[in-house]
Amino acid sequence: MSALTRRNFAFFKWTLRPDRDDDAPPTTYVLRCLTLTGDDTACAAKSPSSENPGEPQKWAFDHLREHPEHTSYAEVIERPWVMWREGPA
Ligand SMILES: [Zn+2]
Repeated sequence: MSALTRRNFAFFKWTLRPDRDDDAPPTTYVLRCLTLTGDDTACAAKSPSSENPGEPQKWAFDHLREHPEHTSYAEVIERPWVMWREGPA
């Protein structure tokens, strides 16, 4: 590998924006359990990823049924973003 490798990177102006194109990856939702277990580590169980935010919520009720003391959750949202090249800086 040459130490002189260059990328054109610096010669364009880039903007980072949410990707709303029709072929963009979907926004997905996950809920994970934050409840601390006996040894003070998080349970860390998490729902399957879903494009429907209601699905992880159903999972949380199932998780609560199995572990009645697990009442604290975090929602993890994955939203696609894209670098948009505006042209020469
Ligand atoms: Zn849990």
